[in-house]
Amino acid sequence: MKDVIVIGAGPSGSFAAHRLAKAGFSVDLLEEHREVGKPVECTGLVSQRVLQYVRTKSIAGTVRGANIFFPSGKSLHIEKEDRTIVLFRDSFDKDVAAMAIGSGSNIRINARAISVKEHDDHVTVRFRENGNLKEEDARIAVGADGINSIVRRDVYGLRQKHVVSTLQYDMASRIEDEDSVNVYLGSKYTHGFFGWAVPGGDIIRVGTGSYRSSARQYMDNLSVRFGENRVLAITGAGIPIRMAEFLNTRRTVLVGDAGGIVKPLSGGGIYTGIFSSDVASKYISEALEDDRPEKILRKYDREIRSTIGKELKKDAIVQSIYSRISDRSFDRIYNMISSEKIIDVINRSGDIDYPSTVIIKVLIRNPGILYSMWK
Ligand SMILES: Cc1cc2nc3c(=O)[nH]c(=O)nc-3n(C[C@H](O)[C@H](O)[C@H](O)COP(=O)(O)OP(=O)(O)OC[C@H]3O[C@@H](n4cnc5c(N)ncnc54)[C@H](O)[C@@H]3O)c2cc1C
Repeated sequence: MKDVIVIGAGPSGSFAAHRLAKAGFSVDLLEEHREVGKPVECTGLVSQRVLQYVRTKSIAGTVRGANIFFPSGKSLHIEKEDRTIVLFRDSFDKDVAAMAIGSGSNIRINARAISVKEHDDHVTVRFRENGNLKEEDARIAVGADGINSIVRRDVYGLRQKHVVSTLQYDMASRIEDEDSVNVYLGSKYTHGFFGWAVPGGDIIRVGTGSYRSSARQYMDNLSVRFGENRVLAITGAGIPIRMAEFLNTRRTVLVGDAGGIVKPLSGGGIYTGIFSSDVASKYISEALEDDRPEKILRKYDREIRSTIGKELKKDAIVQSIYSRISDRSFDRIYNMISSEKIIDVINRSGDIDYPSTVIIKVLIRNPGILYSMWK
């Protein structure tokens, strides 16, 4: 019997496998696809914090700021000292998986988990590997299998109710400001989320998200801004934007998207996923040495809720208000925040991983914004 089976070789799963194998445990890492990192369903924007966890050269570029377009067509420019990284997401996932292998994990690609059963002293995972049905036991299983997690379904019985559906195109086009991401607000381009365009020389990533509805019509409106018949690739997937009610059972944990550990305002989940796996692997290591693993694994749930979870909770409240803001209100908010003073606050305190700090600072300086949101 293995010590740990990790299901899903995305960044969260591979990072957990890396940490656990490095701690000396036997780890199987199952990945349903034939290639780690594919298909790419991500824009790849991350803060520099990710580099503290993962050694990677899979960097397409960096951006310094954002141009935020309001429904009226007016735009605001914000920027940060710390540049935001744009990853080549497929090779980034391979980098993390290579770390897991380097630490001694046994990776199995083309191995799709189809059911997970938790027993008193072990977990049984049934999976189809290269077409053959197999079964394996482990003392602990990590659900790192993304938004449609089998672990979450079979062991937790939880459904993901708050999902942003997305569509993203790689387009042969350019963005005027090559050093900034474009963000599009308002009902032409999104329902309750935002549209985006990320520079990349002659190939840009254009996408939009839609909260609890299809992104299709909004993507049609957005993509024409960058020319017709220029689409090189179409991707799209759901983003879970609320954390699961609980993140551990007796012998399993959920990390990353599987646990809904994703930033509700931006849909970013690479940093939060790796962060969750870092915390999870610490407690799994402890639990594997203990005869009451559930007690130890519960500490994982608690630590997530008292660290990154606090931020995600605040952001979820803002997101539920944000998702109902009308175009007129957005334009009123533009008028309220486009002063030099407020832009300066945003530039100094903006943080893509912890946005609540800047939101609170801006609201303190201009509480009328709250009123505008409701109107
Ligand atoms: C359009 C779009 C744009 C995004 N842009 C950004 C961004 O710019 N920055 C950011 O931080 N985040 C972004 N995200 C979110 C980010 O992609 C996810 O939060 C991140 O991938 C979560 O990592 P994960 O390892 O938890 O899950 P995933 O990356 O989803 O990995 C799960 C892995 O499990 C595998 N798997 C699934 N089911 C099984 C099974 N049954 N058996 C075996 N393997 C299985 C999958 O193949 C996959 O490899 C974006 C998402 C979308 C949809």
